[in-house]
Amino acid sequence: MSDLLKELYQEIILDHGKTPRNFGECEPFNKSADGHNPLCGDKVHLTLMVDDQGIIKDIKFTGVGCAISIASTSLMTQSLKGKSLDYANSLFQDFSNLITGKGDKLDLIGEEDSLYSLKGVGAFPMRVKCATLSWHAFKSAIND
Ligand code: ZN
Repeated sequence: MSDLLKELYQEIILDHGKTPRNFGECEPFNKSADGHNPLCGDKVHLTLMVDDQGIIKDIKFTGVGCAISIASTSLMTQSLKGKSLDYANSLFQDFSNLITGKGDKLDLIGEEDSLYSLKGVGAFPMRVKCATLSWHAFKSAIND
């Protein structure tokens, strides 16, 4: 990976960690879930508005945590807003592959995607839970 790309990825994470997108609570919402990562102290509360066609009309979060968990949640909400639940499930799979080092098996996440900026987290096992916390909360919200 080029240094320029690495810098760009770091900037994306810093930016989303400092200025998270979709922060707050959906009003109204019809799905919600909480996630907690005791190893790091990250907490996330997700709310979603999913319509009859299974389209994620709105998704927001509140929470506290490290920069990685906040950035990852912010990036996730940005990637899922307006998308179908089917797409979200596929993206969840791709993101898991990206983070756990199976990055060669990605269908939906290209190097130009902001989610790709979290790939480097895979090298730090403790941080993997920070990056995937919100995705697991999302899963439990939609399976509720
Ligand atoms: Zn964390």
